[in-house]
Amino acid sequence: MPTRGDGPPAGWRALTDLVLPRTCAGCGVPGCDVCPRCGRWLTAPRLAAPRRHPPGLPPTVAAGPYAGPVRPVVLAFKEHGRAELARPLGAALALAVTVLLRAGPDLLPGSGPVLLVPVPSSAAAVQRRGRDHVRELAGCAAAELRAAGVPARPLPVLRRARGTRDSAGLDARERRRNLAGRFRGRPPPGGALPRGILVLVDDVVTSGATLTEAARALAALLAAGLPAGGPPGAGRQLGNAPVVAAVVAATPRRPLQPAHRDRPATFTVRS
Ligand SMILES: [Zn+2]
Repeated sequence: MPTRGDGPPAGWRALTDLVLPRTCAGCGVPGCDVCPRCGRWLTAPRLAAPRRHPPGLPPTVAAGPYAGPVRPVVLAFKEHGRAELARPLGAALALAVTVLLRAGPDLLPGSGPVLLVPVPSSAAAVQRRGRDHVRELAGCAAAELRAAGVPARPLPVLRRARGTRDSAGLDARERRRNLAGRFRGRPPPGGALPRGILVLVDDVVTSGATLTEAARALAALLAAGLPAGGPPGAGRQLGNAPVVAAVVAATPRRPLQPAHRDRPATFTVRS
């Protein structure tokens, strides 16, 4: 049976291929989860920043644009039950993390092993999907990094407070209002956060509101050194959060022109 966070084992895939032949989630060609042509869209990680991002947005690298075949791949993974896509999308996320690691001590918060902190989905979304897809991504990305010789592991220390809606469909201001103070830190068993490089991970960045609020909660957890759960907004007085972020994809500022739809294009990039 598939194991949570590591994707289905090869034997299971072979068995399901007999019943449900695999097709590329981006373009539909048979025989693979993501074909090389669609996969190329997630091999050019760049620093990403929404045009008017909220103060406190952590430095964020995206593996590619949330456009072209990337959209159906992410949606198939997130909303349509194709959990096997955690592996290729986790690999893309790991690639984005390596770009952060190459940025060096000027950008990186701390040193030591890479600790991937998944941005939690709302309880309603997890219930609807039957899984926490970002946590799966974090597990696969950590495995990819370890395979490349980089010490890494998931560190699920954030949770969402009750009453937070999904951000999908909300504009930037509504997203900020919906999320303000809505994340809480929850330290791992044993108390303090382990030493390492804290990297928030999520599937898609759009307005930056989610990453900003998650970074504030993580900063508050770090500052307290204790279980969070204080008053809403604790830690908001902190400036830039001492964390960085990596995502699979960044929403483009403008729709891609038709002539460019067959190849990766610019997205929310800070030059
Ligand atoms: Zn394809």
